[in-house]
Amino acid sequence: MAAPSIGLLEFDEVVERFDPVLGLEVHVELSTATKMFCGCANEFGGEPNSRVCPTCLGLPGSLPVTNRAAVESAIRIGLALNCQIATWCRFARKNYYYPDMPKNFQISQYDEPIAVNGHLDLELADGTVVEVGIERAHMEEDTGKSLHVGGATGRIHGADYSLLDYNRAGVPLIEIVTKPITGTGARAPEVARAYVAALRDLLRALDVSDVRMEQGSLRCDANISLMPRGAAVFGTRTETKNVNSLRSVERAIRFEMRRQGAVLAAGGTVVQETRHFDESAGATSPGRRKETAEDYRYFPEPDLVPLAPSSDWVESLRGTLPELPWQRRKRIQAGWNLTDAELRDLINAGALDLIAATVDAGAPPAEARSWWVSYLAQKANAQGTELADLPITPAQLAQVIAMVAEGKLTSALARQVVDGVLAGEGAPAQVVEARGLRVVADDSALAAAVDQALAANPDIADKIRGGKVAAAGKIVGDVMRATKGQADAKRVQQLVLERCRT
Ligand SMILES: [Zn+2]
Repeated sequence: MAAPSIGLLEFDEVVERFDPVLGLEVHVELSTATKMFCGCANEFGGEPNSRVCPTCLGLPGSLPVTNRAAVESAIRIGLALNCQIATWCRFARKNYYYPDMPKNFQISQYDEPIAVNGHLDLELADGTVVEVGIERAHMEEDTGKSLHVGGATGRIHGADYSLLDYNRAGVPLIEIVTKPITGTGARAPEVARAYVAALRDLLRALDVSDVRMEQGSLRCDANISLMPRGAAVFGTRTETKNVNSLRSVERAIRFEMRRQGAVLAAGGTVVQETRHFDESAGATSPGRRKETAEDYRYFPEPDLVPLAPSSDWVESLRGTLPELPWQRRKRIQAGWNLTDAELRDLINAGALDLIAATVDAGAPPAEARSWWVSYLAQKANAQGTELADLPITPAQLAQVIAMVAEGKLTSALARQVVDGVLAGEGAPAQVVEARGLRVVADDSALAAAVDQALAANPDIADKIRGGKVAAAGKIVGDVMRATKGQADAKRVQQLVLERCRT
C-alpha cells in the first residue's frame, strides 16, 4: 500500500508558523582495545564473525565483565561535557528482539546513567554562540550488523536473504542525549550540524573514538518536532535514525521540518515514528512506529555489579583531560594575534587545524596561514574539494616553507614544488630534485646570464650606466625568464648594477 503523498511546506513558511524543537542522540563507538563486556578485539571490519565469543554471542552460561577502560572513557566524556558524574549507577537490560542482537536484550543504562546534566557550547558560522544542554551520557553495547542481500537499496525490503555479522556486537558505545533545543527557529538545521561537529571535535580531542561517521563510529539520531509559534507544549517528534554525515544531519532536519510543516498546515497530525534519511533522494521515509520506554521492559542488569566511581578516580580522570577544542582555539587566537572574525574565517574555511599542524611542524604562523588561505585555498576551490582533502600534508608544506627560509627556493619555485606535491610527484625534496627547481645560487652562472641580457639590450645597458637604476628591472626580468625563475631576483639586481658600474 503506497503512503499518501504529502507535500513539503516552503522552509520560510515553516519557520514563520512553527517553532522547531530539536533533540539529538549521538552514539559513539569507543576505540578501546576490547569490547564492553568481553575480551574480544574491538576493531572495525574484519572477516565476519571472527571477533566473537560466548559472551558477545549471548550463549547460555556466559557472563559479562565491565571494561574498565570503557568506563574511564565514559567518565572523561561526561567531564568534558560539564556533566555531573554519578557516584553510583547501574546497567540495565533493554529487552527487544532483533536478529543482530543475539542475546535478545541490550545491556544499556536506563534511569541511572553515568553522566547527567551538562552542556556543550557551539559557535555557528557567523559567530553566534548556542549553549546546548546535555541531558545524559550513558554506556551501552553496540549490536551486530545485518547485511541484506539481493535488494536494490541494501534495506530489508526486497532482499532475498540476510546475513549477520556479530563482530560489532558488544562494542562499547556511549550515547549522548541533548536536552530539548528550543528557540533556534530557521537555524535549527545549522544548529544540529554544528552540534554534531562540535561533539565530534571534542571526542577526537579526548582520543576516545576515531569518530568516523562514514564507518558508523559516530552516528546521529535526529529528533525534531514543530509547535505553533509561541506554543508551550512540544509537538509530536520524529526520530531520523543513523544519519551518517554532517551534511546529512542538516539536510534531514530541514526536510523533516518541511514535511511536518506540510502535515500540520493541512490539519493533520505527525506520527511518532523512526525515519530513515535517503542521501540520494534528500528525503526521509517512515521506519517503525516509535516504541515507548515501557515497551522495553527495562530492569537492572542482574549479571553486573553496580558501578560506583570514587571521587578520587573521577578527579584523576579529570586530570587526564587534554586541551579541549575551545581552549585550543583561544590559545591559537592569542598566539597568532587573530581577531574573532579572522579566527572564525579560518575555522569556517577548515584551515585552522591545518595551519596549526603546519606551525607544529616548524613553520612560522604567518606563512603557514598565508599558504593555506590563499594559494592552497585557490587550489582546493578549483578542484571543488576541501582543504583537508588536498594531497599535501602540513608537514610537507612546512618543509617547503623551510626551503624558502633557507634560500633554497624562491616563492615562485615554492609554488611549483607545492604543485608537484599536489600532482602526486612525491615529497617536496623529490619534486625539487625531479623538476630541477633549486635556486641558481652560483654567481658565475648568474653573471653569465646577466652579461647575456645586457649584451642583448645595449640601449638599456647604456641607460643603467648613465645612472637610470630603474631601467635594471627589464634586465632582471630577462634573467629571471632565462633561468626559469630559479634565480634570486635580489641577487640578480645587485649583479646587474655591479656589472654596469665597472
Ligand atoms: Zn566477545
